[in-house]
Amino acid sequence: MSSLLVDNIGELVTNGAGEGPLGIRRDAAVLVEEGRVVWVGPSAYAPAADRRLDAGGAAVLPGFVDSHAHLVFAGDRAAEFAARMAGQPYTGGGIRTTVGATRAATDNELRATVRRLRGEALRQGTTTMEIKSGYGLTVADEARSLRIAAESSTETTFLGAHVVPAEYADRPDDYVSLVCGPMLAAATPYAKWVDVFCERGAFDVDHARAILACGQAAGLGVRIHANQLGPGAGVRLGVELDAASVDHCTHLSDADVDALAGTAHSDGSGTRTVATLLPGAEFSTRSPYPDARRLLDAGVTVALATDCNPGSSYTSSIPFCVALAVREMRMTPAEAVWAATAGGARALRRDDIGVLTPGARADLVVLDAPSYLHLAYRPGVPLIRQVMRNGVTP
Ligand SMILES: [Zn+2]
Repeated sequence: MSSLLVDNIGELVTNGAGEGPLGIRRDAAVLVEEGRVVWVGPSAYAPAADRRLDAGGAAVLPGFVDSHAHLVFAGDRAAEFAARMAGQPYTGGGIRTTVGATRAATDNELRATVRRLRGEALRQGTTTMEIKSGYGLTVADEARSLRIAAESSTETTFLGAHVVPAEYADRPDDYVSLVCGPMLAAATPYAKWVDVFCERGAFDVDHARAILACGQAAGLGVRIHANQLGPGAGVRLGVELDAASVDHCTHLSDADVDALAGTAHSDGSGTRTVATLLPGAEFSTRSPYPDARRLLDAGVTVALATDCNPGSSYTSSIPFCVALAVREMRMTPAEAVWAATAGGARALRRDDIGVLTPGARADLVVLDAPSYLHLAYRPGVPLIRQVMRNGVTP
């Protein structure tokens, strides 16, 4: 059994026991065995190990957990982005453009895109990345999207209900039946989660409830795209169905915030349903940002994710989202870093990632900086010096 000691860590973010909400330890070391953290403590008292990685006084954080990404697609929508920046509003309609390109692509073309984006995210510190289907929208294309996603992540999400495809435009009920029937059956072997884009122009709350309930009955966990483009009942539906996460949360009523806050664990460890905020989408669609402070002040657990997709948020960078959250959503740097690590883990109902405490997976990043603060303080700068996943450098 080979052991690795990461030592000479100037600032270690554990998200466990330690100073402040990030559980910070100074002059620390982490001992890794068989892909797991087995000891955390002062560098001066570190046990012996077979190998050593000297962090050189830099900051070390848990690897980022990106709990919301759409990586299985073909083509891009740079022209749509340019048009939007010239004043055209975002409606979500461009999803059908990507559906056409995705259906026409070969398996290897889709696989190459997933691997390219997964690698891009990894180099920016993302050690866990959820991947959704949702650009196939036929039984065969959704199943192959998830099969390809599952090659790169265990956190795979069936999003057959992304939009109603053009061929079902005048009979959405029939499409919902397809999603709940043969499409779900074909997707389930490769999926852990079910998701619906619950929004005007996509799926209304009754259709969303039907699809999520079918997915739940098939053994999938629930997540939902809700309240992105306008107010609606999506967030409350997520709470009703015990969703692990309600994502976007840009337009919330008091009732929505109260519903989320009402899922609080009795031990004070946050809410059972997480609000996942995706500021890359507001940035790229030039839209108002969600009110993170209102959620945090109500005690709601908040996660940050990229929403990486070719239409509304073509970034794979969690550091960029952390910088946006701090500058544009008034989260503190500590809140934003927690949300991008432990928060993302909560949004995936995982307790073995997003933390650097004994028993956790040895997923970590070494920054080219002395403190996590630099992630927001130095936006756009490549600060990830080294990434480790399961105790090894990928
Ligand atoms: Zn999304």
